[in-house]
Amino acid sequence: MAIPRPIRLLAAACMALFFFLVIQIVRSPAKVKGPDLDVGKLADLFRDPNLDETGEPPEPLRRVQGENYAPGNGNSDRINATLLSLVRNKELDQLIQSMQDLERTWNHKFNYPWTFLNDEPFTPEFKKATQANTKAECRYLEIPKEHWDVPSWINEDLMHESANILEEHDVQYAHMKSYHQMCRWNSGLFYKHPGLQDIQYYWRVEPNVHFFCDVDYDVFRYMQDHNKTYGFTVSLYDSPWTVQTLWPETMKFLASGNSHLLAQNNAMNWLTDKERRPNHNHDANGYSTCHFWSNFEIADMNFWRSPAYEAYFEHLDRAGGFFYERWGDAPVHSIGVGLFADKNSIHWFKDIGYQHIPFLNCPNSPKCQGCVAGRFTDGEAWLNKEDCRPNWFKYAGDEWALPDSLSEPVEAMTSA
Ligand code: GDP
Ligand code: MN
Repeated sequence: MAIPRPIRLLAAACMALFFFLVIQIVRSPAKVKGPDLDVGKLADLFRDPNLDETGEPPEPLRRVQGENYAPGNGNSDRINATLLSLVRNKELDQLIQSMQDLERTWNHKFNYPWTFLNDEPFTPEFKKATQANTKAECRYLEIPKEHWDVPSWINEDLMHESANILEEHDVQYAHMKSYHQMCRWNSGLFYKHPGLQDIQYYWRVEPNVHFFCDVDYDVFRYMQDHNKTYGFTVSLYDSPWTVQTLWPETMKFLASGNSHLLAQNNAMNWLTDKERRPNHNHDANGYSTCHFWSNFEIADMNFWRSPAYEAYFEHLDRAGGFFYERWGDAPVHSIGVGLFADKNSIHWFKDIGYQHIPFLNCPNSPKCQGCVAGRFTDGEAWLNKEDCRPNWFKYAGDEWALPDSLSEPVEAMTSA
């Protein structure tokens, strides 16, 4: 029996529709739209200020003149400062890489001493190889046991259970006890080492970092002469799961009779921003998670030794989050300076080209070699959204902004 023409046409149309739908399903990848996609867009809209040509920060700048920074000169222009590295013996090769970069770009001119710290004794091989890479003095310090050990009030069973929860949120190093110890020590103990009591400024250096640009002035003198407390190169968002109770504990600290410690011109609005990454602020209970990436720090230890920061660290240490969560020294230092230091005393060392994988600070300057100006990461493109500098510029301003762009509100750079 012949099928009527309209039915045949209808069947053909159904078949065509069916194949069309199958092709569409096969062609489109299953993409889950997460809320963070907005942030990707924001990152794309941010024009990196490292694309602008960068010179030096303002005078006064102290430079090499004759023998004023010669190694061994007992009457040199050096101030109370050291290059500082917490490091393990097994990281010797990676540390030498960092040392060679920093010596080549800066310290062969200024000859500041190196201080190496370790929770174990340094091997003779470590001492010999490090000293062979600098004309400056090398000092080797062992960390007192009571500074490194997990404090008595921490419950190890609870610590283990907590680490399981962190792991569910993909928190790196959750179960690595030494990593938690390192974060706590860097947050509130390193500057208490008896061997550092006479030192004021330090430049923190990690193994396997890179320095790209020649720097021709004494950065420690810069800090002192310009009333700077803390210097950074890279600023990032943190994983909220590492710091879920850090901000609530900070609020508790301030509420229990300590709000008078807040600096008058503090960076509270930077710490609490919820516009740029609302989910981060939400998951970290009020903290933007923006922080200065502390594997690079040039800072004044007297700030950490101040009653305000000391009381704050003491409070955090008792709260236990260095072990029950994975509070990093980066967010703790950043909240510390953000609340208790004048934000004008925080300096972006834009002119120091720096890399700790996977992030970079790479200025546009003839003094820099080996990195691409304006590139923020050498990793996957999505890592660009971890850049928190736009937020810092929004709330604290960009000290390096060119005179003719000074009239342009910084916010214009950060929002479309
Ligand atoms: P990441 O940058 O957060 O992945 O952490 P790293 O492994 O680079 O550690 C940060 C710094 O602390 C580096 O300078 C390490 O050499 C140092 N460090 C970490 N754990 C230990 C430790 O158990 N002992 C010593 N002496 N140094 C450590
Ligand atoms: Mn590191």
